[in-house]
Amino acid sequence: MARIPGLQVIRSPVAGYGVISTRFRKQGSVICDVEGVLWRAEEKRVDTHSLILEPGIFFDMVDQTRWVNHSCEPNVVVEAGITRRGNGWAQLQALRDIEPGEELFFDYALPEELKERCFCGAKQCRGWIVERPAQPMTMSSRSRRPSAKR
Ligand SMILES: [Zn+2]
Repeated sequence: MARIPGLQVIRSPVAGYGVISTRFRKQGSVICDVEGVLWRAEEKRVDTHSLILEPGIFFDMVDQTRWVNHSCEPNVVVEAGITRRGNGWAQLQALRDIEPGEELFFDYALPEELKERCFCGAKQCRGWIVERPAQPMTMSSRSRRPSAKR
């Protein structure tokens, strides 16, 4: 798998592995496309690094982006969906200007039934990694806490 230019996996001070940007990222810019594999719930895939594209449809992140940690004050948002041909897609976008060397975080926003305690350390930490009502995009979770993924 090709390495995504401008991203680097590190040992994160927040949790486990994390990902930093080695470049400046302008607010609103696309950081990268995510390489992933589509799974459906009935396939009983055991996976802890998947986005939930729709109920029961998961997108397993298989590149460096799978190591991006959760934060309640994220600097990245994940846009994702399913194309008309039925392929999953996702990309990371900068929520604000990001300096070189900054760790990237997005809000995993887990479904209520999968919520986990959060230790992200943000001032606005909600205490739980859980979705907010106006936030349909989620990442399921199991292994990395704070990070969520299933
Ligand atoms: Zn938090």
